Amino acid sequence: MKISEILKKETPSLSFEVFPPKTDSSFDSVRHATEEISALRPAFMSVTYGAGGGTSRYTLEIAKNIKERFGVPTLAHLTCVSSTRETVRAKIVELRGAGIENIMALRGDLTPELDGSDRSTWHYRHAVDLIREIRDIDDGFCIGGACYPEVHPESRSQAEDIRFLKEKVDAGCSFLTTQMVFDNNLLYNFLYKCREAGITVPVVPGIMPITNGTQVERAIKLSGSFMPQRFKAIVDRFGSDPAAMKQAGIAYATDQIIDLYANGITNVHVYSMNKPDVAAQIMRNLSSIIGEKEC
Ligand code: FAD
Repeated sequence: MKISEILKKETPSLSFEVFPPKTDSSFDSVRHATEEISALRPAFMSVTYGAGGGTSRYTLEIAKNIKERFGVPTLAHLTCVSSTRETVRAKIVELRGAGIENIMALRGDLTPELDGSDRSTWHYRHAVDLIREIRDIDDGFCIGGACYPEVHPESRSQAEDIRFLKEKVDAGCSFLTTQMVFDNNLLYNFLYKCREAGITVPVVPGIMPITNGTQVERAIKLSGSFMPQRFKAIVDRFGSDPAAMKQAGIAYATDQIIDLYANGITNVHVYSMNKPDVAAQIMRNLSSIIGEKEC
């Protein structure tokens, strides 16, 4: 099922993100974790492409397994900046062959090595180039794009960032997923600016439940996200107590999700980080809001 169709539903729903194994030897444990999350029957699941140290090889395998064994619609991430045209085109054909209907089209992060290389030799400079490539090969995919309520770190301004975001949507994105946010007000402000710029596709907020003290630093480094004082106080108070931090982090994320639903957002994407217990607890916390059959 296409994510654009799922996002038309007006009842609150959740989707979860998982990442592929970092090494061949961890394949079985990652697959098992993703299966446990799939069994919760989220509206859809996304599988990252090499992000978080995972290998890109297994994205398709994990996405296919979730879809075939659990009937949960999947969104396979695909990055392009460090790839040749042949590799990317082959991946797109492979995804179609595996019955995957949804692709999250991303540029990928610039490693220091890439950043210093000759850009004139790159086939894909931005995600928009990948979106056009996918559309060129197979117009049947539902394509998603990434967006940044707190501005992408390479952008000179939010206005410029949103202008390029509009270009991605015009090239064929049917929905957008945000970088993680810990302050919903930043998200509401961003949504307003997107609508003002003529971006009318659904924007799915990304929420990351922080469940241990060390995750905080990593999350901020990766995303550059702003940590509200209320959240900092939680980390200061409970960061060194794993059980307490987990409970407080899940409660904070749940609170953010409830606020988003209350303000008219229907689907929230949870960066569940291959943690079935965290995904399950969030679903339990929202059971009467999202209903039992489908989250
Ligand atoms: P782009 O849309 O290309 O934007 C990158 C920068 O270029 C921005 O500053 C933008 O304003 C600017 N820009 C865009 N178009 C143009 C243009 N035409 N001309 C000039 N400037 C332009 N990384 C992974 O490796 N694997 C993943 O699975 C993954 N999943 C992600 C999922 C989400 C929801 C998000 C938010 C990020 C994810 N990332 C992933 C990280 C992502 O790859 C990085 O944030 C990357 O730096 C930017 O990717 P993008 O697709 O947003 O790039």
